[in-house]
Amino acid sequence: MSFNKEADYRVNFRENGKILSVEITCCGKHIGEIRFEDGQTKVCPECGVTHSVKIQHNHFHLSRIK
Ligand SMILES: [Zn+2]
Repeated sequence: MSFNKEADYRVNFRENGKILSVEITCCGKHIGEIRFEDGQTKVCPECGVTHSVKIQHNHFHLSRIK
């Protein structure tokens, strides 16, 4: 099974230090950028995996849901 072996998240910050957005690379390709907001998702057109942002009180998760 080789899916997501090249997945990568790049987090962009504002000048005030707050997180602005997350750029997602999956299957070795840049598949797009999502706003850093709870519940935001992006589906990879190559492998169909959903990448999601979950923000909790003092941390956040970047997850892949098959
Ligand atoms: Zn993919």
